Amino acid sequence: MNEYDSDKIYDLLQNSHGLLRAEAVEDADILLLNTCSVREKAQEKVYSELGRWKAIKNTKPDLVIGVGGCVASQEGQDLRKRAPYVDLVFGPQTIHRLPAMLNQLKRNKKPLVDISFPEIEKFDNLPEPSVSGPSAFVSIMEGCNKFCSFCIVPYTRGREISRPLDSILDEIKALTAKGVREVSLLGQNVNGYSWQDQKGTIVNFALLLYYVAALDKIERIRYTTSHPIEFNDELVQAHAEIPQLMPQLHLPVQSGSDRILAAMKRGYTVLEYKSIIRKLRTVCPNISISSDFIIGFPGETEADFQQTMQLIEDVGYDRSFSFIYSARPGTPAARLADDVSLATKKARLARLQSRIDEMADAISDSMVGTVQRVLVNGYSKKSNTQLCGRTENNRVVNFSGDASLIGNLHNIKITQAMSNSLQGEMIQPSA
Ligand code: SAM
Ligand code: SF4
Repeated sequence: MNEYDSDKIYDLLQNSHGLLRAEAVEDADILLLNTCSVREKAQEKVYSELGRWKAIKNTKPDLVIGVGGCVASQEGQDLRKRAPYVDLVFGPQTIHRLPAMLNQLKRNKKPLVDISFPEIEKFDNLPEPSVSGPSAFVSIMEGCNKFCSFCIVPYTRGREISRPLDSILDEIKALTAKGVREVSLLGQNVNGYSWQDQKGTIVNFALLLYYVAALDKIERIRYTTSHPIEFNDELVQAHAEIPQLMPQLHLPVQSGSDRILAAMKRGYTVLEYKSIIRKLRTVCPNISISSDFIIGFPGETEADFQQTMQLIEDVGYDRSFSFIYSARPGTPAARLADDVSLATKKARLARLQSRIDEMADAISDSMVGTVQRVLVNGYSKKSNTQLCGRTENNRVVNFSGDASLIGNLHNIKITQAMSNSLQGEMIQPSA
């Protein structure tokens, strides 16, 4: 989400002020930091980076420093108390106001803070999307109403707001006109999407997927993040019926213990979560599933953790985004007694990650010798003779080929599985 917002900030300022990305921090006239506060560590990094920027500003007084995103939203005016050399503070919902804020700063030479949540305004004021390659993100909703007991997002990004249907479809049409073939629909909880169209019909997330799939030139659709409590049967059915919907799903469970899930206020049980996976695998047997896990939530016992490990065995995950619980100020969980030692938490995290890595490696190994449809994104990061693309289950594949293949789907035979990618070779369409 932050990467998407950062790209939009760049597009906006390029349109309004003709700004271009600087090669190095020292070359910039304006430095903007788009921040995350989901865990304490991310938040700490903000102040250490700002310390480095302060040193640059000391030698270059006209340098404009701005801080956006969730740390800005959380700290507001306090951010300037700790870092008075910051000129602009803007929240995740006010990025579209940056050009005007910049003008005002230049005119009045006074720092500005705008971390309000002006509802739908952001979506109405974003420039035409720029593209790099055949895949693009499209934001479909903002904010979150779920208030999980550990999470700061509802406070920093505001309440759930769905983007107007036409605005989403128009953005996707503009992207496909520029060569995009794959869209990833983005939101904190995409399946909370709800929009009433002109006829009064409620368009929910499942229906939105059918609308997107009906657009010309859309060959692949992904989405992230979906939430188990709104994963209804219509959405399962969409996986059965929409050929462009990729067999890959990120469905965060957080814990395999019902006791911990209740304390997290997640709103589902392990059985309910597994039932969604079972239904999905009935209609889409090869679907690859990933999840977020929080390890060491206050009061997590070895027995709770064992239940998480059991869930991993039951589901068979392909990837995880797993972190040790971080107490966030102002959230209900931050008041809970936390008597599990950091060493225990670290050991549990390592056990979980190594088991999921084993599972992911087994899936990669099983792909060796198969032919995969690969959307070719461009040259590989490591070599300018190797191309790079993604399989349907979202694995990176590198293979030899020429630039004419970029932007399209091709059949690639997988020859080798590495830890973070696959190696392949191009096969002729007739093969
Ligand atoms: N809305 C999505 C959901 O509920 O599944 C996920 C969005 S959330 C911003 C991304 C992930 O950050 C969560 O799934 C959770 O695992 C992690 N997270 C959020 N708050 C956290 C905390 N206080 N400590 C550790 N991880 C946290
Ligand atoms: Fe945070 Fe996701 Fe829970 Fe919302 S649903 S509060 S974003 S973890």
